[in-house]
Amino acid sequence: MTKPRVHILALGGTIATRPDSTGAMQMGLGADDLVAAVPLLETLAEIEAETVSRVGSHSLSFDQIHALAARIRGLEADGVIVTQGTDTLEETSFLLDLLLDVDVPVIVTAAMRNPSLTSPDGAGNLLAAVRVASDPWVRRSARTLGVLAVMLDEVYAAADVLKVHPTRVNAFAATQTGPLAALVEDRVVPLSLPVRDAVVAARRTIAGASGKAAPVALFWMSLDDDAALMSMLLAASDRAGYRGAVIAAMGGGHVSERSVENIHRLARAMPTVIAPRAGAGGPMLRHTYGGPSAEIELRRAGLIWGGRLHPLKARVLLETCLRAGLDRPAITDLFDAFG
Ligand code: GLU
Repeated sequence: MTKPRVHILALGGTIATRPDSTGAMQMGLGADDLVAAVPLLETLAEIEAETVSRVGSHSLSFDQIHALAARIRGLEADGVIVTQGTDTLEETSFLLDLLLDVDVPVIVTAAMRNPSLTSPDGAGNLLAAVRVASDPWVRRSARTLGVLAVMLDEVYAAADVLKVHPTRVNAFAATQTGPLAALVEDRVVPLSLPVRDAVVAARRTIAGASGKAAPVALFWMSLDDDAALMSMLLAASDRAGYRGAVIAAMGGGHVSERSVENIHRLARAMPTVIAPRAGAGGPMLRHTYGGPSAEIELRRAGLIWGGRLHPLKARVLLETCLRAGLDRPAITDLFDAFG
């Protein structure tokens, strides 16, 4: 049987670090180094390796991920692996999922433990990612699965994967849905298929979103919050460049009463999405609580309801909508489909 052609695009991150003379880990390894460290890859696939950048994922930009999506569209491969840092993997994988309309597996992977530690996880994650990209079920289901994240022998949907721990090796989870597949011995064991109707509808509407960057501010509501920062943003010239905002709200979609006036002003000034700050993401309420700081009146006041999307994913989607030039009703409809 001919082996699938798998193209590895390396961006940087812990998986690509090496120690400098002080022992501090610095970006340095390229795609060839990553591949050379895992000889077993060649038994699974014809590997092409390409170094795209050597930056930490904490410093990646939306524009860089758009350029990466364009590169992926131009590849003639049976599967694509992106290696990067873990810090923004939950955002970059979702952005790729919103941008890419391809029928081959696209998988993002990374490492939590750097190569100078005992039992670094980069090599194992890369091998697992190539195994997933080469797997017949995954290849057959690539369109249904969308962009995937593979970490620590589990496979997650890009819309659902979250980084849930800052340092542990088991830092990733899909808290609402669980993994789509597990790796065991040399097998990929399917567990479930993702429900991606809202992502696919968004992708079709956004259609590649080739416009200019549209910065989106993120506000995290918290105890005794008066949203003075929103007021400062609104007072800044050209609103400091922001074109939209996401508010990580409390509970099922609640904010402090003291913040309501500023939130209304913000929502009048730019498309403003409410998303749940409660750790796991998940659908919010729509019509349970009354009063100015709860969902019924906030929705009536024009706040866009983020559905089940975690605030970080909501910010990615809003930036993409704004970049695509969608107007407020179109953005509202698109978020509405997320529950
Ligand atoms: N902060 C770096 C990054 O996201 C390293 C973290 C990591 O890869 O786990 O690229």
